[in-house]
Amino acid sequence: MNPVVLSLAFSAAILASLLVKFWLATRQMRHVAAHRGAVPAAFAGTVSLEAHQKAADYTLAKLRLGIVNEAFGNAVLICWTLLGGLAWLNQLLLGWVAPHWGAMAYQLLLIGAFALIGSLLELPFDVYATFKLEQRFGFNKTTAALFVADRVKSTLLGIVIGGPLLALVLWIMQAAGALWWLWAWGALSVFQLLAMVIYPTLIAPLFNKFEPLADDALVARVQSLMQRCGFRAKGFFVMDGSRRSAHANAYFTGFGAGKRVVFFDTLLQRLNGDEVEAVLAHELGHFAHRHIAKRVVLMLAFSLAGFALLGWLAAQASFYLGLGVVPNTQVSNDALALLLFMMGLPPFMYFVSPIFASVSRRDEYQADAYARRHASAADLVRALLKLYEDNAATLTPDPLYVRFYYSHPPASSRIAALGTSDMPLAGAAA
Ligand SMILES: [Zn+2]
Repeated sequence: MNPVVLSLAFSAAILASLLVKFWLATRQMRHVAAHRGAVPAAFAGTVSLEAHQKAADYTLAKLRLGIVNEAFGNAVLICWTLLGGLAWLNQLLLGWVAPHWGAMAYQLLLIGAFALIGSLLELPFDVYATFKLEQRFGFNKTTAALFVADRVKSTLLGIVIGGPLLALVLWIMQAAGALWWLWAWGALSVFQLLAMVIYPTLIAPLFNKFEPLADDALVARVQSLMQRCGFRAKGFFVMDGSRRSAHANAYFTGFGAGKRVVFFDTLLQRLNGDEVEAVLAHELGHFAHRHIAKRVVLMLAFSLAGFALLGWLAAQASFYLGLGVVPNTQVSNDALALLLFMMGLPPFMYFVSPIFASVSRRDEYQADAYARRHASAADLVRALLKLYEDNAATLTPDPLYVRFYYSHPPASSRIAALGTSDMPLAGAAA
């Protein structure tokens, strides 16, 4: 492989992905703006003009911020790689750290410094999104103190959990021979599966409070729904999602027979018992169709392919040179390889992402169909309308934008699919 060819392919991928991103965002903005004036006919009786226009304005504001953020992110990416930013940071730490504390400390600090600089550069966008954009539309409930506390906790968690994990991967890269990538993949896969088990009980409570659902009538309903569907629940919890945001949600955690059901307090405030049951039936549909398990398998397969590719690239001098770094001669290049791979892949992967979005949308339709069989379609439609409205999701997205990005089908498509049942839809969609 010629380093110049890699540089050119990388630049071309960045340029092409940026052009497609801007083109799609422009399409979406035009489409939403063009339909801002009137509520679509199918929603005329159920969605107010005010809510419709708020959704349009929120969508447009997010798209504008997204465009600026993309442009900035890619400029930073080029600075790190082709313009020599990582090479500079590498030389700095190579001179300071490697001689005194050894190769492992140098590699950990290189990746740590990279992550720290990256998150500081993104910080203004996070602050703006939370305290300006979300605030303007009435969604933000995060205080400055909570924002800072969240940051500190995430950083500490990153060091406590990510540090040793990274050290393990770097050690495997150096000690496990030519097939290191297979061992590293195995270790990371075990960690990811473990994280799925410990996250709900150990990590999530660091950020939110979970209390047992106190509404006995609702507990009884939800329990009987789960019995009908052949599931057992270990517990029902309410999470104080309202601490940070007005957006509402519900989810399941846990494996096997005992599942924990977690409701955002914002969801319970907004939906009545029938609607909560319908939303839960949708979530059960994801379990019944094994969507989560299938996604985990897909993710593991993709990461195996990624590790195999990295295993090959890390041994080529042109991989480093092509992305702007002269490989070290005295000290291991493993940390550099990890960083360059992490930065080099996304512009290429962007063009694969519509496949994942389309799989995800198909899963949503399946879960909706399951909810229609085990609860009421009319209740789910009412719940969806409330949730789309509360999240200010636009009812009139650009179809191509949807195909490329949407993990959930737009409200109109979901309601149309639900409406094909013989159940009456009280005033919702035609
Ligand atoms: Zn879903």
